[in-house]
Amino acid sequence: MDYKARIIYLRKVLNKYNYEYYVLNNSSVTDAEYDSLMQELMALEKEHPELFDKTSPSQRVGGFVASEFNKITHSSMMLSLSNAFSADDLRDFDRRVRSVIKKERVDYVVELKIDGLAISLMYVDGTLSYAATRGDGEVGEDVTSNIVTIKSIPLNVPADVSFEVRGEVFMPKKSWEELNALREETGEALFANPRNAAAGSIRQLDSKIAASRKLDAFWYFLVDPLSLNIETHFAALKYLRELGFKVNDKIKLCRGIEEVITYITGITEQRHDFPYEIDGIVVKVNDITTYDELGYTAKTPRWATAYKFPPEEVETVLEDIFFTVGRTGKITPNAALAPVFVAGSKIQNATLHNAAFIKERDLKIGDHVFIRKAGDIIPEVLRPLKEKRKGTEKDFVMIEKCPVCLEPLTFKDPLHFCLNASCPARYEEGLIHFASRGAMDIEGLGERIVEILFSQKLITNIADIYELHTKREALLQIEGFGEKSVDNLLNAIEKSKEKSLEKLVFGLGIKELGAKTSKILAEKYMKLDALSNATEAELLTIRDIGPVAASSIVSYFSNEQNLALIAKLKAFGLNMNYLGPTKKDDTFFSGKTVVITGKFSSYSRDELTSLLEILGAKVAGSVSKKTSLVVAGEEAGSKLTKAQELNIDILNEEQLLKLITEA
Ligand code: NAD
Repeated sequence: MDYKARIIYLRKVLNKYNYEYYVLNNSSVTDAEYDSLMQELMALEKEHPELFDKTSPSQRVGGFVASEFNKITHSSMMLSLSNAFSADDLRDFDRRVRSVIKKERVDYVVELKIDGLAISLMYVDGTLSYAATRGDGEVGEDVTSNIVTIKSIPLNVPADVSFEVRGEVFMPKKSWEELNALREETGEALFANPRNAAAGSIRQLDSKIAASRKLDAFWYFLVDPLSLNIETHFAALKYLRELGFKVNDKIKLCRGIEEVITYITGITEQRHDFPYEIDGIVVKVNDITTYDELGYTAKTPRWATAYKFPPEEVETVLEDIFFTVGRTGKITPNAALAPVFVAGSKIQNATLHNAAFIKERDLKIGDHVFIRKAGDIIPEVLRPLKEKRKGTEKDFVMIEKCPVCLEPLTFKDPLHFCLNASCPARYEEGLIHFASRGAMDIEGLGERIVEILFSQKLITNIADIYELHTKREALLQIEGFGEKSVDNLLNAIEKSKEKSLEKLVFGLGIKELGAKTSKILAEKYMKLDALSNATEAELLTIRDIGPVAASSIVSYFSNEQNLALIAKLKAFGLNMNYLGPTKKDDTFFSGKTVVITGKFSSYSRDELTSLLEILGAKVAGSVSKKTSLVVAGEEAGSKLTKAQELNIDILNEEQLLKLITEA
């Protein structure tokens, strides 16, 4: 391909990848692949300046503004960053900076490059006015209603100042994992990494979605600090912290580029240990008074650069594909890989999700494949190295029968299920779920022990757990089990009989019922008998219960086998009643004095008072300096005004609901 055609081609594919990344929040190539194509384009454009085009992806901030959002024009461009891929690139950057500002040595602030999406917050007289995405750099999307659901973001700051602050909204790795696990259960498309999940949560119109997504944010840039008499970036970050913004504690002021390089080497080793994903380190000149002199390109400032970590993709062999059966009967194909180390741990298996995924990635058994850890945690098979195929690789064929009970599978696009209610594999997974922390929380009955007890046929269904005390001798024969551990296990089982109804309902593993909906049902019906007699129409009147869940509940309680299990559990003395909420002392509200004012659409004032008290708050009638928080609904009046005067944190109904849900 001649260079002209290559430039056109690169511009075209990079624009396509930008669209996928920024609009669809779903990339088809890795960041490293994108970066290497961008480097190639920039090098070719440099060699052939006659082909300069200001609309080239090398010249523009990559984002877009979706039409469903209100638009916000940024007070100053929200730019991208130039990239450095090695210590030498950083030394080149430093040389350019020093030559412009004519200094022997420059001080830099280094920060983690958090992999989320850039957001700008505007505060007017100390109160949040709006939040916007970066968009195309000039104009962003108004995402205020989603951003205010992130509880670490201050709605008011303790100073009567107007300013703009920019930072990164992200999804912690653990939240991303949990979100994907939930989506996998319900057959929804998974988010390939926490960045896509964060962007997908913020760039949509329903703020309830953002509220449920456990997002967080770090703030790294104060716009126009000189107007506030702040002259260094380090001082600006300190000021942001004083105003109540979350500033990452890994920031470091380095004297000269060699100190920066040493720091980066250290962080590179720890890069997987943070609870959020980082994709590099940002290096910024500390002295803000030099920024104008250093200047800007159309796309990036010349006083900062982003060092990008080398990609951690590893090649291995897909030796086989094996199948597992989940608690709901879902069949998952898994990759058996030749063991390799990726990002610090040994990988030999990876989920392949479903048959369509395998087809899409064109994987064959025997293929050399690239793998990586998505979101730094979950091993992911990226693609086969087709050029290494020998012709002996085998095509993947989806099984038609359950690998455990051999019953025919049912296909519900894109998933296959074993719907045999007495499939042993489903029982085993069901047992693990029943004893798990969110359900009956039986200490000592974790996944590994359940597997051992199940394989030795000491427990084959939930009811057997409560007969384990009659099998003491057999338990003592298990390797690693002594008198004490058997006693502890049996005591924990006995204690679990007292658990409140919602734990039992969740533990039974009724399809489509999560921990939250189980609680709603327990609160409403109070007794398992009452719930088991509920009709679909009745269930549908409950908030959070949709038609699929309603039908699943009714079908569970009309199944003879399930009713027999419940009768057995009752006979063993398990509690079947809702025991009422327990006062919590570790929630956002614990120990806070809260004043409620105005009208709310989800709760009456009395309901809200008791709910907040359960969550550990003290609810007071009037606003004073001692008030920690004011919850303001519609038509809030003088109490709200007083709270604003006293600079007390204020929550609207939506923010309140989010915090209640999380508590
Ligand atoms: P960038 O990611 O290279 O750097 C700028 C961004 O870094 C800022 O906008 C901000 O969001 C973020 N950031 C995080 N921590 C920061 C900190 N402490 N200080 C300042 N900024 C910080 O540039 P970009 O224009 O946002 O994105 C381009 C990159 O996105 C590419 O290099 C590539 O890695 C990725 N990308 C990937 C695809 C794909 O298809 N895989 C497509 C487009 C872009």
